[in-house]
Amino acid sequence: MNNVTILGAGAAGCLAAIELKRRSPETGVTVLEAGPRPLAKVALTGGGRCNLTNTFARIGDLREAYPRGFRLMKRALKEFGPEDTMRWFEAEGVRLVEEDGGRIFPASGDAMQIVRTLLRRMEKEGVRIICNNRVSDIRPVLDASDAVIVTTGGSPKRAGLGFLDPLGLEIETPVPSLFTLKTDDGTLKALMGMVAPNAVLSIPGTAFRAAAPLLLTDWGFGGPATLKLSSYAARHLAECGYLTSLSVNWIGENEQTLRETLSATAAANARKMTVNTPLSGLPGRLWAFLFERSGIRSDIRWAELGSKGLNRLVSTLTNDRYSITGRAAFKEEFVTCGGVSLRNLDPATLGARNHPGVYFAGEVLDIDAVTGGFNLQAAWTTGWICARSVADYLKK
Ligand SMILES: Cc1cc2nc3c(=O)[nH]c(=O)nc-3n(C[C@H](O)[C@H](O)[C@H](O)COP(=O)(O)OP(=O)(O)OC[C@H]3O[C@@H](n4cnc5c(N)ncnc54)[C@H](O)[C@@H]3O)c2cc1C
Repeated sequence: MNNVTILGAGAAGCLAAIELKRRSPETGVTVLEAGPRPLAKVALTGGGRCNLTNTFARIGDLREAYPRGFRLMKRALKEFGPEDTMRWFEAEGVRLVEEDGGRIFPASGDAMQIVRTLLRRMEKEGVRIICNNRVSDIRPVLDASDAVIVTTGGSPKRAGLGFLDPLGLEIETPVPSLFTLKTDDGTLKALMGMVAPNAVLSIPGTAFRAAAPLLLTDWGFGGPATLKLSSYAARHLAECGYLTSLSVNWIGENEQTLRETLSATAAANARKMTVNTPLSGLPGRLWAFLFERSGIRSDIRWAELGSKGLNRLVSTLTNDRYSITGRAAFKEEFVTCGGVSLRNLDPATLGARNHPGVYFAGEVLDIDAVTGGFNLQAAWTTGWICARSVADYLKK
């Protein structure tokens, strides 16, 4: 009988174990888990509701979802994509629902249903799980196994991947992704909780740019636009110590279009107070704040704006600059940018090129995504591919 060891009982490890047993029932599959319970993180996902995948309907270019690993994911999703994930869980009796942005959740709204489903299936397939067993050196595991799948998840510190050092793999330095941004510009505090639905954030002097709703928080900037930008620019932001300038386009239009929109608004509403006609769904108080920030009184009529006022307003609305002074958590959700470099792997099998029989799946890889169910999908997809590859490897 062959023995396969899987390191880490997270999303990728558990799905890999089940799929491997399905393909190769005679193989002994053992999962070594550092923590006291398997799937502890999955239980916390999606605020306890588990956003387990996404329809990808809104994703034109996979780079938008996977700033790291999009090439590999493009190929991998053809093998086990979101429809496969949905079918897999539905076949296990989990009813799923779609929410805005194509996000898929269990209809029960309970992440524990996903945990129980995976655990039940592992038990049925005869997968052995050993908890409280942190692997600190991969060599004894390699010696005792015919194949190994490493699925130890994201490790925000390089030291967390030390157990892999004997393999001499290339590692992309891990840094955090998915966070909100702090500013010490106190003027925003009074606007806490307000949302600019069509904002575009960018980092001046770089190509990093994220279009999505922007939430103003107690400490600065949050909401989908900030999380996206933190993901796209994760490494850049780490390198500059989270001290940077941020450009906010509050309404997501370019200067030329906005100038035309504002001129038309002014002509159509000449006698109306500017403060009463906010553009682009901006809340009235935020609109008034942006007038004041442009050095224009907000209690004027559109006819009084004048060309100087118009220029200043256009500049604030399209390129409002803030100093970022650090990062802050987004609830408890975060993922790691970096990890085992994809250059080490055969992209078709996810096996290490220089170590036959060693495979990698999930967030331990240098693959990570924006929020929306894409991270778990990467774990299911790569876990499934590793299982298939190991089954083929053992046959040979
Ligand atoms: C609070 C939170 C909420 C999230 N919500 C969502 C969401 O709704 N949708 C989404 O798509 N993504 C979400 N994510 C991201 C997603 O959870 C991860 O990307 C995904 O769980 C990664 O799966 P994985 O199997 O690679 O790693 P993990 O699920 O992290 O599992 C890795 C396992 O390996 C174990 N381990 C680590 N080192 C060792 C070792 N040396 N020896 C043995 N075992 C080890 C760990 O204890 C862990 O159990 C969320 C993340 C967090 C933190």
